[in-house]
Amino acid sequence: MPVLNARLRHPLCPGCGYDLVATVQAGRRRCPECGDEFELDELRHQVRPGDWTLLVGLRMTARTLAWRSAATVIAWGAICALTIWLLQTYPVSGIVLWVAAVGGGCLSGFIFSRRLFEAAGFDSWIVVVGACVGAALALFLGLAAVETVLPLSSGFARFMLLGLAVFAAWVWIVHSTVIESL
Ligand SMILES: [Zn+2]
Repeated sequence: MPVLNARLRHPLCPGCGYDLVATVQAGRRRCPECGDEFELDELRHQVRPGDWTLLVGLRMTARTLAWRSAATVIAWGAICALTIWLLQTYPVSGIVLWVAAVGGGCLSGFIFSRRLFEAAGFDSWIVVVGACVGAALALFLGLAAVETVLPLSSGFARFMLLGLAVFAAWVWIVHSTVIESL
């Protein structure tokens, strides 16, 4: 039977969460609150301030993704503004649009995936999905903001620019977080 150091963290009843420190110290193995019998290795332990919990992880993830979304909106907005301005001002080839979309998408993928799990505080598919959603939203918002001033000439151009960028960002994020860590 494992030895429990009850002074470090109070043991909690696996059934009802009651603090069993006095019960365990007295050598009893039945919860006075709910009446369940327990073994020492079934006990849960107190959470202390500074402990990692899922809530802390989700909060860190949300903050990380928010900052990266903001950075993506700014960087992508600058790329879109330059691209649309070029297309409207000079007789440049439509290839510029494709290059900007793929380049901007990869940049956004890089912004989102760089040391993502470390920044988020945990390693989970939730973080990867969150990054993909954040990237798509940020790319959409960045282009929408620029188009209030510099509208694209066609819906097709908008669809290509946004679609390619989101696709490139997702490939980058999934590749660098999931595939490289396998
Ligand atoms: Zn109990």
